[in-house]
Amino acid sequence: MKGHGPPYNEQVNVDLHCHSTISDGTLTPETLAQRAQANGVELWALTDHDELGGVARAQEAALDLGMHFLTGVEISASYGAHTLHIVGLGVDPTHPDLCAGMTSIRTGRERRARLMSESLAQAGITGAFEGALKYAGNPNLISRTHFARHLVKTGVCRDPNEVFRRYLTPGKPGFVPHQWATLADAVTWIRRAGGMAILAHPGRYPLTANQEYALLSEFKTLGGLGIEVITGSHSPAEFIQYAQVARETGLAASCGSDFHAPGESRIDLGDLPAMPDDLPKVWDLLADRIHHPRLAG
Ligand code: AMP
Ligand code: MN
Ligand code: MN
Ligand code: MN
Repeated sequence: MKGHGPPYNEQVNVDLHCHSTISDGTLTPETLAQRAQANGVELWALTDHDELGGVARAQEAALDLGMHFLTGVEISASYGAHTLHIVGLGVDPTHPDLCAGMTSIRTGRERRARLMSESLAQAGITGAFEGALKYAGNPNLISRTHFARHLVKTGVCRDPNEVFRRYLTPGKPGFVPHQWATLADAVTWIRRAGGMAILAHPGRYPLTANQEYALLSEFKTLGGLGIEVITGSHSPAEFIQYAQVARETGLAASCGSDFHAPGESRIDLGDLPAMPDDLPKVWDLLADRIHHPRLAG
């Protein structure tokens, strides 16, 4: 980032994970860019779920506002019975293999949402599909988040967390198992598109220590290079735990708020605790993929 901003060191405010109306966030890519900049973000990425449709808009807005920018996406992947999220940074958002892959995962979402709605109807909650759809800025990307917002709005639950706990997680009415990309496909699409594959919020998966070890080994074998350490999905104890995992595995560390909506997300854009100094950072490995802001004047 020579000549464009502050010296490129640990003091740089980096936020490499968030969502817009193109997936399950409530702000447009442009509004998100403004919020990130207002909150002090210097290097930013938009990582919508299974969608690259907001990237060009986010990049344009970010560079105009003087931020450095990395392209991004968060891919849903099935791993046994688990769903994992793989963040791809520095990808070419027009790469045919990546775009075809994203289209293939998205097509199952509407059918899944209709089945979720039928399942909720059996539990006495009717009209959930239509209700959730009203919250989906992108109908191709209807997600559990949109159901959660609808069920809060209609008074079924007090907050999205309660919706997930009571309805939208395995074993609960409203949960419908779904086949996403394979882990191999997700990593391969990202790599072919010139990007870096990063395991998102590892603390969120209900894996045993042995299962987590196996996942990390497989991820590395496939060509995965990064792991999120500081994320809005981790507790302070998990910041420390996954910093240690990064050291032990040699995966580069990433950080991102996972911001979805004002008042809904635990950490606001740009409001992340600092990353441990000693960890190799994903953005150092991605230096040649960073887009730099336009020079003033
Ligand atoms: P989907 O891709 O449709 O399975 O939806 C997954 C999304 O649900 C995640 O990206 C989060 O935004 C949201 N989510 C998952 N668990 C929770 C939770 N406990 N509370 C609030 N949002 C959640
Ligand atoms: Mn989400
Ligand atoms: Mn995620
Ligand atoms: Mn996310």
